[in-house]
Amino acid sequence: MSVTHSKKISKLAQSFPDDINEIRAVISILSNRHAFGHSGAVGPKIPESEGDKVNKVHYPCFDDFNRLIGSVDIFPPDRKKHLLLLAQAVFSVMEPSSIEDITLLFVANLFCKERLNSFGQWSHKGDCLAIVIYPSCSFYNHSCLPNAQLSTEDQRNGIITCTKAIKAGEEVNIAYSYFNDSDNLEHRREYLSWSYLFTCRCSRCSQEEKEPAVQKEDKKTQKRS
Ligand SMILES: [Zn+2]
Repeated sequence: MSVTHSKKISKLAQSFPDDINEIRAVISILSNRHAFGHSGAVGPKIPESEGDKVNKVHYPCFDDFNRLIGSVDIFPPDRKKHLLLLAQAVFSVMEPSSIEDITLLFVANLFCKERLNSFGQWSHKGDCLAIVIYPSCSFYNHSCLPNAQLSTEDQRNGIITCTKAIKAGEEVNIAYSYFNDSDNLEHRREYLSWSYLFTCRCSRCSQEEKEPAVQKEDKKTQKRS
């Protein structure tokens, strides 16, 4: 049974073009909560023939998602206001019976968890096709020089693959956003701070943080010579 009105969601896409993928993700999370409860599976529908195999796999449930970090209190006031607006938009399209036990703030907090822990599925042209959330993959920290990557092609599981040799005891990092060689420290930190609310201190950022002083000194030396 659908717990949303698809026509209303299409209207939301016009009102919130930049947020519609996130709105769809939160609607999907709430719909699954309504269908399966807090601890039931929220994986995609499984063909019966695959039932035996699938039953052995732990699919993330609502509580797995709800345990992730993220609340409106850690966002600046203007962004908190926008997140509450998005929550209101979700409330406007859900069947009342599916949201009668939750508040606007609860849904706004889901948006925060989604923002801080989700991954995008991107087209070759760079368009975001969908948002996916793999709660266990959210525990990997970011590095601008990662040694592993997340594949989002499998809708049921995020797959982490090492991209270089990793020594015993070395942290496995993924990139929350991929940066080019030309993306400087300021750009990367600004982007990560806005998107994920942290100041990146990965090995690449720490190294580049030390470099400007050296580079300035080099330029002075070049001018003098
Ligand atoms: Zn970094």
